[in-house]
Amino acid sequence: MKVPFLDLKAINAAYREEFIAAATRVIDSGWYIQGQEVQAFEREFAEYCGVKYCVGVGNGLDALILTLRAWKELGKLKEGDEVIVPANTYIATIFAITENRLTPVLVEPDENTYNLSPVLAEKAVTSKTKVILPVHLYGRLAEMPEIMDIAKRHGLLVLEDAAQAHGASFQGKKAGSWGDAAGFSFYPGKNLGALGDGGAVTTNDEELANTIRALGNYGSHKKYENLYKGVNSRLDEMQAALLRVKLKRLDQENIGRRNVAKIYLERINNPIIVLPAWKAYEQHVFHLFVVRCSKRDELQKYLNESGVQTLIHYPLPPHKQQAFVEWPNQNILLTESIHTEVLSLPMSPVMSLESLNEVVEVVNAFS
Ligand SMILES: *Cc1c(COP(=O)(O)O)cnc(C)c1O
Repeated sequence: MKVPFLDLKAINAAYREEFIAAATRVIDSGWYIQGQEVQAFEREFAEYCGVKYCVGVGNGLDALILTLRAWKELGKLKEGDEVIVPANTYIATIFAITENRLTPVLVEPDENTYNLSPVLAEKAVTSKTKVILPVHLYGRLAEMPEIMDIAKRHGLLVLEDAAQAHGASFQGKKAGSWGDAAGFSFYPGKNLGALGDGGAVTTNDEELANTIRALGNYGSHKKYENLYKGVNSRLDEMQAALLRVKLKRLDQENIGRRNVAKIYLERINNPIIVLPAWKAYEQHVFHLFVVRCSKRDELQKYLNESGVQTLIHYPLPPHKQQAFVEWPNQNILLTESIHTEVLSLPMSPVMSLESLNEVVEVVNAFS
């Protein structure tokens, strides 16, 4: 492959010396779970997102699961309550709902943003609706002012799935600070990626933060006192130390991604390819650069033969997966058609101009 989809090795190579210093600090500390590195990272990430609390957990899925679970423990939700969620998302978002025996109500996205349509979300509200779970898909902040307004008028909780949007903001307000809580993933390929699994919840609600912390630690606030039937889901000291290194340069990396996006947007001018849109410079952190084309499979094959690696996010929407075979046939046609047309072009903060030129040239030559 002349142009790889994502060169994680190159991204992380830039941090090698600082990683080694951070890892050495952890190794020499003799303390590997629930120590100073996690505490420091939680403080720094909360401050970065503009919230009071951050709770490190094992991964992004757990961040979402444990937040909904905490709301159940706190009496704000009960089994069977409805959660409005975009149909067009990675399946983890839906699993967080079904794992808690809540009911996902799948709502079509807006065709231009790929994110939850506020108009359709409001139409989906019933007397059982308790939560809206917007996803900042591909790194583009969802329409949060509108979504928060709907939530306020109907008395709903808002949980952001911010797993693809570290650092995205709108009107100066960051992903992770809009809703009642937000779930982040630090999976290696995310904009803020660890060298293993990791996740976090951000919130301004102290009681919620404490409950999530307890649930992820065997239901315990205090050693050997177990309030809840908890699980083991904790961010570890090593990942926290490495994430602290990368957090310092997250904004710079996001600018690098936007610069790649700008070049694609300026120079890809193939009439059969639909480019992504966004409304404010800082709203989008381009976790992925996703184009749409009615001849998607041909385009992907052609790019592959020309040495440009692409991926599809995602080939099959959650409601069509075997995991949800029991769901009745649902009319979610826009989501289904989006899934047949989307293609993610190479995107990373370290892409060379040469690689970029290569992608632009090849994409423009497709017909
Ligand atoms: C990555 C991702 C998750 C899950 O994160 P993990 O750390 O892999 O568990 C959830 N939602 C979305 C939208 C994601 O992209």
